[in-house]
Amino acid sequence: MSAALELRNLRYRYGDGTEALRGISFSVAEGECVGLIGPNGAGKSTLLLHLNGILPERLDGAPAVFVFGEPLTEAVLDKMRRAVGVLFQDPDDQLFCPTVFEDVAFGPRQFGLSEAGVAARVSAALKRAGLEHFEKRSPIHLSHGEKRRVCLAGVLACEPRVLALDEPTSDLDPRGRRELKELLRQLPVTKIIATHDLELVVELCSRAIVLDRGEVVAQGPSASLLADEPLMLAHGLEMPHILRHHHPHGG
Ligand code: ADP
Repeated sequence: MSAALELRNLRYRYGDGTEALRGISFSVAEGECVGLIGPNGAGKSTLLLHLNGILPERLDGAPAVFVFGEPLTEAVLDKMRRAVGVLFQDPDDQLFCPTVFEDVAFGPRQFGLSEAGVAARVSAALKRAGLEHFEKRSPIHLSHGEKRRVCLAGVLACEPRVLALDEPTSDLDPRGRRELKELLRQLPVTKIIATHDLELVVELCSRAIVLDRGEVVAQGPSASLLADEPLMLAHGLEMPHILRHHHPHGG
């Protein structure tokens, strides 16, 4: 069976010459939840923006991203954007409508659904994101955590098979973080989560991939990878607290 996601030697250079991705290859199996970790500037956000063709700006090179075995090319871009939902790091980049309803409806409206079909998708997604009764609110007047959940509802309303999340728990208070974690745990789709929240990785992701300077420097089961203190420190990370209770080397 083909992987839900496969990257084959993905490279990307920004217009100013910054080499953000220097040949990334890995795959994610269907249903898997993978953590993408690494210091600031490692290339995590840039990588996620490639998963549904937001980057590169032109898709005329050799395909480097494969979704359920199919190469991501210009011809299948619409289909790929339905299959892979990307939650941006900054909610303000994703919210642009006067009401929460309109924002969450934006994606499903591109699919040619009836108005009733769109409304059903919106209310199911809002419910899932814990935002019932938020339909008429204005996104700009919500708290940061609520905005993030509206963005997530917008992604979920498209019913993607793969979810790519960029720092989903940053700026959330402990309750918001706990609720989001539960929500993600219950979503039965393939997930790739870029985050500095290493406890979230340990708790939700069976596998983690460490990125540094645009390259994959390590990957493996989250618990053992993140317990490798020298590896963590070498890449600007820290062994998460919850792993400190185990003493793998008997110390
Ligand atoms: P991360 O998400 O791991 O913090 P990014 O993907 O944001 O890393 O950044 C990877 C590299 O690309 C960094 O060196 C960063 O400075 C650079 N970069 C990110 N966005 C841009 C941009 N729009 N223009 C130029 N360089 C960028």
